[in-house]
Amino acid sequence: MKVQSMSSPITPRLPGIRFVHSPGPTHVPDEVMHAMQRPMTDLADPRVGALIAACEKGMKELLNSPASDIFFYASNGHGVWEAASANLGSDQHSLLIAGSGHFSDQWAIQTTGLGLSVIRTPHTEGQQIDVAAIEAALRADTAHNISAVMVVHTDTASGITSDLQAIREAINRTGHPTLYVVDVVASLGAAPFDMDALGADVCLGSSQKGLMMPPGLGFVAVNAKAFAWSKAHAKPRYYWSWLERKTDNQSAKFCGTPPLAHLAGLEVSLGLLKEEGLAAVHARHQRLGAAVRAAVTCWASTGAVKLHCQDPKGFSSSVTAIEVAPGIDPEAMRAVAREKFQVAIAGGLGPLAGRVFRIGHLGDMNEPMILGALAGIEAAMTVQKIPYGPNGMAAAIAYLAQHTR
Ligand SMILES: *Cc1c(COP(=O)(O)O)cnc(C)c1O
Repeated sequence: MKVQSMSSPITPRLPGIRFVHSPGPTHVPDEVMHAMQRPMTDLADPRVGALIAACEKGMKELLNSPASDIFFYASNGHGVWEAASANLGSDQHSLLIAGSGHFSDQWAIQTTGLGLSVIRTPHTEGQQIDVAAIEAALRADTAHNISAVMVVHTDTASGITSDLQAIREAINRTGHPTLYVVDVVASLGAAPFDMDALGADVCLGSSQKGLMMPPGLGFVAVNAKAFAWSKAHAKPRYYWSWLERKTDNQSAKFCGTPPLAHLAGLEVSLGLLKEEGLAAVHARHQRLGAAVRAAVTCWASTGAVKLHCQDPKGFSSSVTAIEVAPGIDPEAMRAVAREKFQVAIAGGLGPLAGRVFRIGHLGDMNEPMILGALAGIEAAMTVQKIPYGPNGMAAAIAYLAQHTR
């Protein structure tokens, strides 16, 4: 029988490496893959408890939040969105989900679907989260009905990273007792995030982006203030409940069987991040993102494409969204990039569907990988007769040559 796998989706097998440059899932390093292939064991095996403990400890270190509780879920990012909303929502309170792009919109839709009241702040395309709008909403809420301000650090749809510290300071200025919740799904491991120093009460993420793993493992980190609020006020919940999961019982921690393969992978991926050093990991992401923008800036000289992010403060080290001029079909170009040049990139989501393509540059990635991706995209744009400006590859190479590790 001929077995088809994701690495060779086309028969006959294509030679060489397929480049994954979507902003999740990202390339999974061999060390992580191998760890995930470990044999299963019974749940009373002390190695299971040791593995869970190692993952919890590693996450606390990565987030720099030694006292927070880490709750893991066998879920994707949408699952941990629901975990946060279900544990922080009540019939007497509203959740403020700041506008940042498609991902914030989806989080709000999902939270509304739980029967919870959601307040939105407006988002301007190409810009960071509107901090003043959050401040105004909190000042208007004199009865303190808002229980949490929830923000997406890097909205993967817009490719824009927002200023978490500015949002924290805005909350502080109002004196509002709200909790502060941050989605770091797309930014963790790519951009600095220090949960305690920032004063985030909850943060959430998932495995398939900067954590360099296959999709399927989500986590939420919860500090004592958020846990106490949830215990006192939140609506009934069970599978997602932090109350049920705050226990030393391994099965109760996961409300069932722990996702052992994913935990084994996470232990290794956390080790890889630690070995490289978090500052070096962030610097590498910053370099690769800047190299991509150097290329796009050249491509943009003819007006065929342009960077979607209009404010350099919002440039993301994880993903770059590139707008195309009217009449250019980014989906057709993506298909050529994937099928003819083995470079998988992402398309536009929500209001940006059909208007942008996105290059992921996060996770287990290095200079030749990003140069290969940019070259494959240039080749696909050439096939599609997209009249991009010249010298993009040279600009990316020059940037990387001037900013070596
Ligand atoms: C990818 C992503 C999500 C959703 O994750 P899924 O695993 O696709 O459910 C949520 N938030 C952000 C910022 C993301 O990038």
